[in-house]
Amino acid sequence: MTAVESDSGVLAGEQRMLIDGELVGAAGGAVFDVEHPASEEVAGQCADGTVEDMARAVSAARRAFDAGEWSRDVQFRFHCLMQLHDALDRHKEHLRRVLVTEVGCPVTVTGSQIEDPISEVKHWAEYGRDFDYLVDTGLHNTALGPARRKLHHEPVGVVGAITPWNVPFYLNIAETVPALMAGNTVVLKPAQLTPWSGSELGRIVAEETDIPAGVFNVVTSNANEVGAALSADPGVDMITFTGSTATGRAILAAGASTVKKTLLELGGKSAHIVLDDADFNSSLPLAAMMACVMSGQSCILPSRILLPRSRYDEGLAVLKASMENFPMGDPWTPGNMQGPQISATQRQKVLGLIESGLASGARLVTGGGVPESLPVGYYVQPTLLADVDPDSTIAQEEIFGPVLTVTPYDGDDEAIAIANNTIYGLSGEVSSADVDRAFAVATRMRTGNVTINGKSHFGIDSPFGGTKQSGLGYRNGTQGYQEYLHIKTIGMPE
Ligand code: ADP
Repeated sequence: MTAVESDSGVLAGEQRMLIDGELVGAAGGAVFDVEHPASEEVAGQCADGTVEDMARAVSAARRAFDAGEWSRDVQFRFHCLMQLHDALDRHKEHLRRVLVTEVGCPVTVTGSQIEDPISEVKHWAEYGRDFDYLVDTGLHNTALGPARRKLHHEPVGVVGAITPWNVPFYLNIAETVPALMAGNTVVLKPAQLTPWSGSELGRIVAEETDIPAGVFNVVTSNANEVGAALSADPGVDMITFTGSTATGRAILAAGASTVKKTLLELGGKSAHIVLDDADFNSSLPLAAMMACVMSGQSCILPSRILLPRSRYDEGLAVLKASMENFPMGDPWTPGNMQGPQISATQRQKVLGLIESGLASGARLVTGGGVPESLPVGYYVQPTLLADVDPDSTIAQEEIFGPVLTVTPYDGDDEAIAIANNTIYGLSGEVSSADVDRAFAVATRMRTGNVTINGKSHFGIDSPFGGTKQSGLGYRNGTQGYQEYLHIKTIGMPE
């Protein structure tokens, strides 16, 4: 629960971008509308940045990296990021209202989207302050006699951070704060649908921290070409991106000509293998909740449920009951756990995929459309589809809606084969009464991360990365910090 009490707390966010230390409008002054998905009303505007604005931001970040002290002064970075942490903490109720306004996520479930990322700012500040940037690996034999080698961990340079709309404040922090603490300078390009979680961060950095001009920039825009300009700019050394696999491919291609380091966290189509000895009454209600709680707009959601044929009907009944009773509605009303989809386009995409599932022979167990009681706002009923063909579109494409597909299997080997039958490899889940058996299955899933019996793999202190077409590199953990560092090996006399 949170402190927001009003029935509707709609609040417009900061309109201006942060470029080279100044809060500014777009070159030419254009703005674009930001919608509240629960009311379908325009809540306010944000600067519609241009490719010229992006070029200015990149050159400011370049100058701040090449000529400033930021990359060399870890104590100063610690000081600045602790200031940022304290300022975000002071403004968290404001940030929460702006977040719910632009995303439409229920206020009840914003702890992981506001409190958690704010505490992660402190985590990275302390982690970076204590990090061992110089490691002496001792003497190494060479043809010319022994050489001492030291590993000097240095920031990569200018980092372009491109973020999506599903958990925007969290991802803005997750993509930029470890990069900043490691000594990089940053240009953040938030998603079109959720620019304010980025522009608010820019305003707070400008007004309430000593972060020097150019070190952190935010360019909002309604045009994909502005993100594309960032990912192609020769002044950028690294791109960190969270979003769709299609956009990830475009970003990789755009960075190829200047060989940019690229950290990608992309789409998923994760499977939940429910073994035949699992306690359905604990694992399946949780699976239903995970599908609904962010309206299914989560890349790590295990959206494909694999049930043993011997207990198929029993499993479907538990899932159906859990989805039909899910508290959905106005995101400002405490207690509601599912809000609308973020936009009309996204809702249409979800409904279209449900239709395609039915056309390919899936059986509708519950949901499937727009709830009659919620005609305004982009709501979709929690939806359960059974008998889903593992090769069908609904089993292969990321839905990003409150939809679970269920496929029966015979034996653990078949379950694993179905789970692995996807181009994605982000996450997954196994449920079983026998943890060793579940662990053995988890190790055979070709995916980046696995949860067993609801015990989450995801956290700031553990590496998180996708395999196959779900990503490159890691966030979180030691590996997540080191992504923003280059290791320079220095050979020297004894
Ligand atoms: P969606 O399709 O759900 O909007 P995307 O993965 O396309 O999700 O968008 C995530 C982020 O990528 C957004 O900030 C968007 O502006 C940005 N983006 C979209 N296309 C490109 C591109 N070609 N190059 C760089 N960034 C892009």
